[in-house]
Amino acid sequence: MKILALLFLVSCGTNHVLNFEGDYTRHKTDVEFEPYISQFQSFFGYTNTPIIFKEREGNIAGTCTKWSLGKRVQYKEIQIDLTKWLRFSEKQRETLIFHELGHCHLNRDHNNTVFNDDCPRSIMRYQMMNSYEIENCYDVYFDHYITELGRNG
Ligand SMILES: [Zn+2]
Repeated sequence: MKILALLFLVSCGTNHVLNFEGDYTRHKTDVEFEPYISQFQSFFGYTNTPIIFKEREGNIAGTCTKWSLGKRVQYKEIQIDLTKWLRFSEKQRETLIFHELGHCHLNRDHNNTVFNDDCPRSIMRYQMMNSYEIENCYDVYFDHYITELGRNG
């Protein structure tokens, strides 16, 4: 039980969508993320949401932030914690970028439901997949995850 709890430490900011008026600085996507963005775009089309490295507090690996005036989004940006990123496997990195683009580009909310075998039903679960889940769920349900990600709501 203790091991499981430790494996589940990394998650997405629950306040990933901050709607507020105020100043922001436009950033350019860090080249590190380009392969993952290309992969995402092969399924979901072009996205111009910038992704940058920025320290995230506690167990938060990444956030999608939107700056809005009223209902109109002025700017959005994905911020990834470098220290945590360096510890992730390739596939974990892919799920993290897909997850955050799910928020920022596809306007998805979290989906924390699971299959009977305890595999998550969605990349949009608020917690990232641990290495066990990457091995036993991600490849098995990959087509489902892509389809589910593209569904709005
Ligand atoms: Zn999230």
